[in-house]
Amino acid sequence: MADNRVVEGRMVTPQRLAELIEGDDIMDAEPIEDANRDCPDCGGDVLEVGYMPSAIEFVTGWKCQDCGWSETDRE
Ligand SMILES: [Zn+2]
Repeated sequence: MADNRVVEGRMVTPQRLAELIEGDDIMDAEPIEDANRDCPDCGGDVLEVGYMPSAIEFVTGWKCQDCGWSETDRE
């Protein structure tokens, strides 16, 4: 699948990437995009994925491709 990307040396689906960011199971995820920003920890490329952790919540998450850094737009 073209949507899959390499993160920390492993191929991940949008769903799997969102679960890495969330640290838990999620319901649904949009295709992975390039965030056009650098990781604040290692300077690596950052990926962006929109996902639904539950039926009533939509979160945008970011994850570094090279290290464990991630964040979300949650307040
Ligand atoms: Zn990084």
